[in-house]
Amino acid sequence: MKAEIIAVGSELLLGQITNTNAQFISARLAEVGIDVYYHTVVGDNPLRLEKTIEIAQSRADLIIFTGGLGPTKDDLTKETIANMLHSELESDEIALRFIENYFKRSGRSMTENNKKQALVLSGSEVLENRFGMAPGMAFERDGQHYILLPGPPHEMRPMFENMAIPYLLNKLGKKEVIVSRVLKFYGIGEAELEFRVQSILAEQRNPTVAPLASSEAVTLRLTSKAHSVEEAHRLIEPVEKQIRMLVGKFIYGIDEETLATKAADLLKTKDLTIAAAESLTAGQFMAELASVPGISSSLNGGVVVYNEKAKVEQLNISKELLDQFGVVSAECAIALATQVKKKYSSTIGISLTGAAGPDPHDGEPMGTVWIGIAIGDNPVKTFKLQLSGSRNANRKRAVNFALYYLII
Ligand code: ATP
Ligand code: MG
Repeated sequence: MKAEIIAVGSELLLGQITNTNAQFISARLAEVGIDVYYHTVVGDNPLRLEKTIEIAQSRADLIIFTGGLGPTKDDLTKETIANMLHSELESDEIALRFIENYFKRSGRSMTENNKKQALVLSGSEVLENRFGMAPGMAFERDGQHYILLPGPPHEMRPMFENMAIPYLLNKLGKKEVIVSRVLKFYGIGEAELEFRVQSILAEQRNPTVAPLASSEAVTLRLTSKAHSVEEAHRLIEPVEKQIRMLVGKFIYGIDEETLATKAADLLKTKDLTIAAAESLTAGQFMAELASVPGISSSLNGGVVVYNEKAKVEQLNISKELLDQFGVVSAECAIALATQVKKKYSSTIGISLTGAAGPDPHDGEPMGTVWIGIAIGDNPVKTFKLQLSGSRNANRKRAVNFALYYLII
């Protein structure tokens, strides 16, 4: 089977986003033995999209689209394909109900546009989207396979993994199913992780265990092949257990979980509220936490206290303390966490203060960061980091570490 991946979206051509969807899909297809011959990118333009599809039809047996399934005018992937194949678009009951429920939950009213998202090509297998509104589709026409997926990676990836891959294996007549589980690590480097699990890496065939580092985390992907999903999970289980025994304390999540979603979950399930005092990160910690929907019941608020004056005026940090210990110090982190907790009447106060770089700050070298976490009336916990990246990499890593320390 020769595959072509068509990413639709003018943002890709403008250089505003990177085509990570093609990268992800290619890597997964390689794992199941499907060769990818072409990656194509086309803008949100019906004529050029049509041309692109014609070319793909002439050279591929499997055409996978990402993007352009949304509710707006420029989203026209399925309309263009329907036109070319003389197919009808029909409303999918399940997708429509899902979209209606989504709007009911969020208390907003649905527009005609949104109904458009429930339209699918007639005769296609509908791929449920658990993280967004636009359903995906898979179908066969004249011996060629078409798979349509939405653009946002956090929607596309689980759909591809859980629905498109099984669809393809089934079409290929492969009886086996493939199940993956991604373990996510923090606070341990890639080399150290590989060293500690080397015996497992060396021995493992089914599941395979593959390490990978991203900007947020170091991960291990366990992939097993079996005759059923249950059996595949059963194969993964003991290997996961072994890994957890060796390096479990560094695992913060699995699959689609992130540091922010884990921290948000924890706050919610333990019924805790948090407030942040941010110096070097200037609000990035709160922004990251607030990327998780429904966080308002846990995130009370916080302050950006970037310079000394703000620390003194906004949070009543004593000038003497700052003079004596400097702003890059455990003492300052403790005072900030304590004061912000009080100011926002939260159960947790968290503080981030440090020297992002490029210059040292208060005599502390670039990359020195102190994080303070005040919980209830307990003594404030402090963590010192010595980061070695660039200024903004250090600021981002300080946020990730702060989320990580909340979780562990
Ligand atoms: P939506 O309902 O969100 O509009 P859509 O299926 O219409 O979904 P697009 O409008 O094409 O998708 O893209 C939505 C967003 O998804 C983009 O702004 C971008 O952030 C991300 N995205 C789209 N295509 C890709 C890609 N090939 N690689 C990585 N990210 C992508
Ligand atoms: Mg869109």
